[in-house]
Amino acid sequence: MSEQRSPGFDTLLIHAGARPDPATGARQIPIYQTTSYVFRDADHAAALFNLQEVGYIYSRLTNPTVAALQERMAALEGGQGAVCCSSGHAAQIMALFPLMGPGKNVVSSTRLYGGTVTQFSQTIKRFGWSAKFVDTDDLDAVKAAIDDDTRAIFCESIANPGGYVTDLDAMAKIADAAGIPLIVDNTTATPYLCRPIEHGATLVVHSMTKYLTGNGTVTGGCIVDSGKFDWSASDKFPSLSQPEPAYHGLKFHETFGPLAFTFHGIAIGLRDLGMTLNPQAAHYTLMGIETLSLRMQRHVENAEKVAKWLEDDPRVDFVTYAGLESSPYKAVADRICPKGASSLFTFGLKGGYEACVKLVDSVDIFSHVANLGDTRSLIIHSASTTHRQLTPEQQEAAGAAPNVVRLSIGIEDADDLIADLDQALAKATA
Ligand SMILES: *Cc1c(COP(=O)(O)O)cnc(C)c1O
Repeated sequence: MSEQRSPGFDTLLIHAGARPDPATGARQIPIYQTTSYVFRDADHAAALFNLQEVGYIYSRLTNPTVAALQERMAALEGGQGAVCCSSGHAAQIMALFPLMGPGKNVVSSTRLYGGTVTQFSQTIKRFGWSAKFVDTDDLDAVKAAIDDDTRAIFCESIANPGGYVTDLDAMAKIADAAGIPLIVDNTTATPYLCRPIEHGATLVVHSMTKYLTGNGTVTGGCIVDSGKFDWSASDKFPSLSQPEPAYHGLKFHETFGPLAFTFHGIAIGLRDLGMTLNPQAAHYTLMGIETLSLRMQRHVENAEKVAKWLEDDPRVDFVTYAGLESSPYKAVADRICPKGASSLFTFGLKGGYEACVKLVDSVDIFSHVANLGDTRSLIIHSASTTHRQLTPEQQEAAGAAPNVVRLSIGIEDADDLIADLDQALAKATA
């Protein structure tokens, strides 16, 4: 690509990180199905292990297929670098790992993917970390939750399961004032609809399992670093600013500048946590990303039609889609994700828990699965599945109360989706 023009988003979807294979000229990015790489000589090996030269050692750390995906993700999000890993949940741990330590906390939105609530409220305690959950619509509550041990703010751009949109600019302002990074989970929006770094995010995490791969084939995660945070401005982030004993006292921030977080993620995170993405999965995700814009346009178009239809249906109590004129999130959605509010939302069903369970058992085209962001339309009753481990209060706060059904609208014919919901609603409310 020429130096003068910076390529547009749709061009980056196909070309970022991809160049003809130097060995064969292969146009598509090869799947480098190898665990190791032959060193040129002993000096080359030593330079690689000292991080003095960038190259391939072992596929737990780096692999050319995965590296192409990392470069593409960084380009799509407008970041400096990216680290891919085995799942979205791995990406969240990998994002927090260099920032946190025993006794440290993350201030997190209450509106999260159900698994993230569990990861943050239960599992991270084993590392001595904790999360303080706040309603991110209440900016004063977010500010008040930050203390001397807070090392990050975490939220989702378009939040699971209701599809509510977070005011990222406001979050970033609070994080900046506190001298801590803002981490945004951009899974539901994808960089086609929202680019959190442009709204002040430091790090963007993804479950690539969802819209990015797009067809429900593989799990994957990614952390994109904006490269803008000054890790040395305070003593809060010693993993990035202080000497690293495992690399002869190398200081990541001083040595790698805006790529400090990315290098740390590979050289320490993947090396020691081992949550590596395999090259086959990277391949599927690269294939999916090529059509991201086309798919997201259709996802949004279909979601708008289905949400409007549901809103007008007397069997339905409410619809949370932020793309609806009636949504209290419409204004913030127009600012944060002007091309649409993705295709994930919930609706409340008259008839409560029992009717919801009957509904998911009565659909034909919709699949009853614990996934989202697939080309196929998906349905789930969060309270009996993904949010089942949560207390009733947590379910309510997360937007997953017992009368709520979550939809992920696919790219089929919208009329068929509406007809399917119509017949299932008839059975559920009979
Ligand atoms: C699915 C999902 C995750 C977890 O990702 P996995 O790939 O399933 O580990 C995290 N955040 C959001 C918003 C998700 O939808």
